[in-house]
Amino acid sequence: MPMYEYRCQECGKLYEQLRRMSEADTNLQCPHCGSQKVERQVSACAFSGFSSGGSSGGGGCTPRGGFS
Ligand SMILES: [Zn+2]
Repeated sequence: MPMYEYRCQECGKLYEQLRRMSEADTNLQCPHCGSQKVERQVSACAFSGFSSGGSSGGGGCTPRGGFS
């Protein structure tokens, strides 16, 4: 199950969620403010980082520090 990144258009916060691909865009709700105006972010690195499991140097997919 891939991890998706979402941005709330109401409060502007980013959050990540593991979702099935078929449900990636359904029933979105911001965990911070409860808004359903949530936009999925394109995040290819979430896929590679999640499925490879290996250490290929990260491929420039380092987690953003201060994820607040
Ligand atoms: Zn929000």
